[in-house]
Amino acid sequence: MKKLIEFANTKEILDKYGFSMQKKFGQNFLINESVLDGIIESAGITEKDLVLEIGPGIGTMTQAMCEHAGKVVSVEIDKKLIPILEETLADFDNVTVVNDDILKVDKARLERILSGEEAPSSNIYSDTPAEGLTLKVVANLPYYITTPILMYLFESDLPFESITIMVQKEVADRMQEGPGSKEYGALSLAVQYYAKPQTKLIVPGSSFVPRPNVDSAVIKLARYETPPVEVEDPVKMFKFIRASFNQRRKTLVNGLTHMSELGLTREQVEEALRKMEKSPTVRGETFTLEEFAKLSNLL
Ligand code: SAM
Repeated sequence: MKKLIEFANTKEILDKYGFSMQKKFGQNFLINESVLDGIIESAGITEKDLVLEIGPGIGTMTQAMCEHAGKVVSVEIDKKLIPILEETLADFDNVTVVNDDILKVDKARLERILSGEEAPSSNIYSDTPAEGLTLKVVANLPYYITTPILMYLFESDLPFESITIMVQKEVADRMQEGPGSKEYGALSLAVQYYAKPQTKLIVPGSSFVPRPNVDSAVIKLARYETPPVEVEDPVKMFKFIRASFNQRRKTLVNGLTHMSELGLTREQVEEALRKMEKSPTVRGETFTLEEFAKLSNLL
């Protein structure tokens, strides 16, 4: 099969199947070979790796990853792409395609498919064993759901070593911000709690069809074995963080007590702030990850 990273080959396959790209699925297909090489290199894909790809599209990155990885499992929401992937991935015996929404797929089932214990319903299935392979997530993400996908991955039990993703440049920047920046928020804190972020490439819109209006970036999130701060209940801490940033202009006390599901009283939050020697009118956006961890442990 011809390499889809060449625009002429992408165009040929799209025309052959009469496929029109859907905005609602964030479909922008990669057509820049040096960017593709950069992604493979940044992710450090070798035959010892099991790659989980989210959104293979017509299989452009999948083809290159199959050449480098031990095994690739790709999850694609759009069923119209499945017959195309059957053709474009036909040369590889180390790839499995799952036709599902990554945010809705049963996690236990995904784990069984990744390990090779269960076959998906698509015809693209590899029984290559995944035992002993290192799990890496690599994707050109649909931009409309970047944050939910990252939170899904971080809060899942999937034992991935790193996530290497193409995202909007602005979102990659946001992941690396700290207090004092307008862009600092729940996403920055989640990424920095679970992983060490590093921008690898800046990618112009001309690298995709159709061309997006914004620049993109490839960012690698290398997962920490032990997070940089100690938190008794990280899921609870992220509930507090989201509540604090929901209305940025509110004080931390108001943000946390307005969300009734957290069940916090004004006195409880003020008491915790006193112990931290913080003013009762402090805003969440000034808190570092360490401070959110301390507050969450106190509460
Ligand atoms: N990887 C391909 C490439 O680089 O050319 C396509 C990338 S495109 C930006 C995003 C892909 O994610 C599309 O194929 C889209 O259909 C798929 N997608 C969108 N939402 C999804 C979801 N919730 N679960 C799985 N795949 C999804």
